Amino acid sequence: MLLFGGLILATTALGTWLISSLAVEELRKSTSQNLQEVAVQLRDKIEIDLHERYSDLSIAAAVTTQTLEGNQSVNVTSILNALQDNFPSYAWIGLVSAEGTVLSSTGNLLEGVDVSERPWFREASKGPYLGDAHPALLLESKLDNPSASPLRFVDVAVPLYRNDETLMGVLGAHLYLHWVASVGESLLAPLQERLQVELMVADRNGRVLIGPRDTIGTEISGPLADAAAGKPTSGYLTDTMTASSDPDDQERYLIGFSRLRDRDEYTSFDWLVLVRKPTDEAFAPANELRLTLVATGFLVSLLLLLSAAVAARWTTRPLLRMTEEARNLDPEQPSTLIRQRDDYEEVSTLSSTLRNLILKLTAKTREMNELNTTLEHRVEERTRELEDANALLEDEIVQRDAMRRERETLIRQLEETVRTDALTGLNNRRHYFELGKTAVKKAVRSGRPLSAIMFDADYFKKVNDSYGHGVGDKALVHLSQLAAEALRDIDVLARVGGEEFAVLLENTDEQSAAEVAERLRSTIEDHPLPLERGRLTLTISAGVATFLPDNSDDLDTLLLYADKALYQAKTGGRNRVFRYSDIQQANSN
Ligand code: GH3
Ligand code: MG
Ligand code: MG
Repeated sequence: MLLFGGLILATTALGTWLISSLAVEELRKSTSQNLQEVAVQLRDKIEIDLHERYSDLSIAAAVTTQTLEGNQSVNVTSILNALQDNFPSYAWIGLVSAEGTVLSSTGNLLEGVDVSERPWFREASKGPYLGDAHPALLLESKLDNPSASPLRFVDVAVPLYRNDETLMGVLGAHLYLHWVASVGESLLAPLQERLQVELMVADRNGRVLIGPRDTIGTEISGPLADAAAGKPTSGYLTDTMTASSDPDDQERYLIGFSRLRDRDEYTSFDWLVLVRKPTDEAFAPANELRLTLVATGFLVSLLLLLSAAVAARWTTRPLLRMTEEARNLDPEQPSTLIRQRDDYEEVSTLSSTLRNLILKLTAKTREMNELNTTLEHRVEERTRELEDANALLEDEIVQRDAMRRERETLIRQLEETVRTDALTGLNNRRHYFELGKTAVKKAVRSGRPLSAIMFDADYFKKVNDSYGHGVGDKALVHLSQLAAEALRDIDVLARVGGEEFAVLLENTDEQSAAEVAERLRSTIEDHPLPLERGRLTLTISAGVATFLPDNSDDLDTLLLYADKALYQAKTGGRNRVFRYSDIQQANSN
């Protein structure tokens, strides 16, 4: 609405400004042209009057010449008086001899006076002459002066020639300059009520000859003088007309001007005819027009705004009501449905469309809700079924896990059993060989020595024989425990035969291995097996073998050497340790 109002105001303002500018410009132009036309008319009238005076004198000159040539006695004075009666602005007309003496004149004034030195006589001796305004010299005291200012004349004079073309005399006339003012008054009289203008005439130097009292004698300067000096003989402009620089003193005028033109027969005065009017007055109608147009534009835009506001209100009211109804709409209550409206066609269509739309939407929503409920039930059912199946599956997984663990334990136990000696819990022979093969490979790779100790209980047959097989078994378990305690965790200890054991020492040279064997032997000797009655001291014999293996060596060789050393220990008296290197030394000796 604001935008709309702004648009109306802007458009009207622009339109008003455009129209008023054009109209005001047009009106100013026509007012100016009016003044120019009045100036031209006045100029034409002055030119016609001047030409008539020239014709008067020419005719009078022709008549006078003929009568004088024919020596007919003629009353020249009566001709001159008749001319003056016909045109009262003649101040004086006189016939002057070729020598410059006034022969006859109107009212017989100046007859016999010598005027040979006067410019008009001298100029007219050569041809027709128009003399610009000048003060009356000889006639000032002899003539009535109706105006307050000094008498001024313009001159019209023509030469008289004899048949032989010699100068006979001059016919000259003085015209009251005031005549120009009366020409203007008579021309303006019927128009003045409408025009309200001032008439002025300036000479070729811009000096004011005729015009309001305070302007007479002043000089026209500025743009007006420039314009008047230009080519066009008429025009218009606005100007202050004075050279004064005081802005308060400078009334601006609209001025129409026109310049007097020469004729073939004579050179005219080059006067500037001016018609002026203060610009305030001249352009008042234009300014009023502008004011009227602006006021009208303002009123029109106000009316437009008002009607736009009313139209907008009328258009939007049903829409706003519908919006309110839509806001309060409750699909569950049919009474809150948007009403059918018939304010105007579009609203009627819109309201019925909205009603139908909402009805359809409500039905669809209900359908969707029902569908949703069914769907939710089905989803719940499915979820329950899935949960049940999941529970079953989880149970099964748990059971399977347990079974797998059980099986793994069984396998581990089985493997343990397979690797372990049942009586002593030590590694059995088979597992000793497996571990031994791995240890040989590692020793080959690392280049470090590997040692084996083989030891065997001494005279064990006797133990069995003396104490029974049960004590024999206990003695074997006791011996195993002592050996295990005497060894490090990383050393491999195994029962490889009935009362025969083997140890594997990785990264150990023969000297260290022999020390371990000695420790085993002494520990066992020092810890007899307690019996119900007394104690049973056990001894062992041990053989030690070591090699820095290469690819050709294997576990069997190492054990063979250890066994040979063990044999030497047995044969050497038992309860002792023997090294395989000692056998080699004995052999080489
Ligand atoms: P030597 O000093 O030469 O080794 O004499 P020895 O009697 O220990 O050697 P021999 O090989 O003649 O006898 C070994 C005996 O060890 C025979 C057997 O009765 C006994 N023996 C072997 N295994 C077991 C066993 O598991 N339990 C019992 N109680 N005795 C066993
Ligand atoms: Mg033995
Ligand atoms: Mg034996």
